[in-house]
Amino acid sequence: MAVKPYDPENIFAKILRGDIPCSKVFEDDHVLAFNDIAPQAPTHVLVIPKGPYTSYDDFATHASDAEIIAYTRAIGKISAAAGVNEDGYRLIANTREHGRQDVPHLHVHILGGEKLPLMLPKA
Ligand code: AMP
Repeated sequence: MAVKPYDPENIFAKILRGDIPCSKVFEDDHVLAFNDIAPQAPTHVLVIPKGPYTSYDDFATHASDAEIIAYTRAIGKISAAAGVNEDGYRLIANTREHGRQDVPHLHVHILGGEKLPLMLPKA
C-alpha cells in the first residue's frame, strides 16, 4: 500500500499557519515545539518541523541538511530547557497505522517529569 501524501489540512499544519493556537515552547526557522493538549506526563512537548513531512522516514529522505540539523538540535535544546535531561525522558515518533499516529505531520513527543511506564503496554 502506498504511503499517503502530506495533508495540508492536518491540525499541526493549521497550528503552523496560525489558524489555531498552541502553547509554544520553542521556535526557530525550521522547528516549532508546543505543549501537548492532552499531556500524558508532567512534561509532554511535541516537536515538529515546519516543512510538510508526514513521518520521520519522509523527513529523513526529503528534508534538507539544514532542516535535519535544526530539528535534531532543537530536540536537544527543548529537553534541556524542559528540565528533564538529568532524570531522563522518552522520545516517541508514532508512525502511520501500526505506530498509531493520529496527526500526519512528523512530531516527536518528549515525555518526562516522572518515571514513565514501561514501553508498549497492550492498548
Ligand atoms: P500521535 O498519536 O503520535 O499522532 O500524537 C498526536 C498528539 O497530538 C496527541 O498526543 C494529541 O494529544 C496531540 N494534539 C492533538 N491536537 C493538538 C493540539 N491542537 N495542540 C496540541 N497537541 C495536540
